Amino acid sequence: MRALIADKLPESARQALIEGGLEVVFDATLSADSLLAAMAQHDPDVLLVRSTKISAAHIAAAKSLQLIVRAGAGVNTIDLDAASAHAVYVANCPGMNAVAVAELTWGHILNADRRIADNVADLRAGQWRKKTYAKARGLKDRVLGVIGCGAIGRAVITRGQAFGMRVMVWDPLLDADGARALGVELATDILELARYADVLTLHVPLNDATRGMADADLFNALRPGATFINTSRGPVVDEVALAEAIQSKGIRAGLDVFCGEPSADGEWVQSLAGLEGVYGTHHIGASTNQAQEAVAAEACRVVLEWKHTGQAPNCVNLAINTPATHRLVIRHADEVGVLAGLLELLREAGINVQRMRNIIFSGDHGAACARINIMGPLDDGLIQRLRGTANVLDVKVLEI
Ligand code: NAD
Repeated sequence: MRALIADKLPESARQALIEGGLEVVFDATLSADSLLAAMAQHDPDVLLVRSTKISAAHIAAAKSLQLIVRAGAGVNTIDLDAASAHAVYVANCPGMNAVAVAELTWGHILNADRRIADNVADLRAGQWRKKTYAKARGLKDRVLGVIGCGAIGRAVITRGQAFGMRVMVWDPLLDADGARALGVELATDILELARYADVLTLHVPLNDATRGMADADLFNALRPGATFINTSRGPVVDEVALAEAIQSKGIRAGLDVFCGEPSADGEWVQSLAGLEGVYGTHHIGASTNQAQEAVAAEACRVVLEWKHTGQAPNCVNLAINTPATHRLVIRHADEVGVLAGLLELLREAGINVQRMRNIIFSGDHGAACARINIMGPLDDGLIQRLRGTANVLDVKVLEI
């Protein structure tokens, strides 16, 4: 079994896959056309990528390909429809960089309170300005507002509690019991959260519902002088509205992400990033060695578990519901040809099999139980023919 690693992953990933019995081809420079050629040349069973984009053509180029692992949380760089059309599993590594992003978030929160970056800049410019900087508000007992309580939001919350902050949250998937379990208060909506927050921090995915969610209404609701943090994605914020709030009501913003971020290093002048009151970092939230190692270890776990069990953990492209209407539960002797005979009867009747599992029992006189989800209906004649198949012990038909 062969794995192609087509991205920068730590050496530990290559080692773990080799130790797990895979032949590994590792080329971090592959992309677009060169990846297409490599897929055809190496015909990998497994493809591991981080930011490399995977198109339908890449997927079609390797006949043996069965699993794509994205060493990261998002899978928007992979053509999921094409993978599903080729029955290729796509799995991700969610939550593995949560601590790294939470740590950077806290760097921004502490910086916004104490203006550490401005202190440093003045000292480097030969200025001692104690009077200017000796005016922080402090964080204990202040309200930390967290929008989005997934892996990163939760890591931010626990660190906020360690700082003695009162934590309020908003997440459509969190109910009052969930909030209680986290030791936080649940706001009724993001505007209420913004009204209470001394520090408001965003940890949501970018999608149609969240694009521009931090808008003029939200910034109007924020208290003057509050801190606003975004380490999620740039377009979640209406940057014009944020710039206006920074200038009109002294909001301080810690931003790791921006709209239109460049994909390569070089000169980049962006009006928001250059504003006084904005403390920008270069989309480095997940970029710690610990996070990269944790993601790589999870990617290898996915590959090796799939290799051993046939099940891909964290798979994102399996059908949750199928059009199956009935389940056949068939107990039968574990003999050659029993399942083939049963499936032939279903084929003759034009019945499509959706899901199938055959479980083998222990003992010398091996028996098995097949659970076959089908698109019915079944007539009595077919049920009798299934029951009458050689070596079949019993057939039950259940409606799903
Ligand atoms: P996650 O899937 O674990 O959590 C996202 C949470 O957001 C979920 O609980 C979800 O219910 C909630 N959510 C969705 N829509 C919402 C809405 N409209 N209002 C409030 N909450 C909503 O994801 P995560 O691992 O916590 O990551 C969050 C985001 O952080 C990612 O989607 C990514 O955009 C960003 N991220 C940034 C960096 C970086 O380098 N700065 C690194 C990793 C992730």
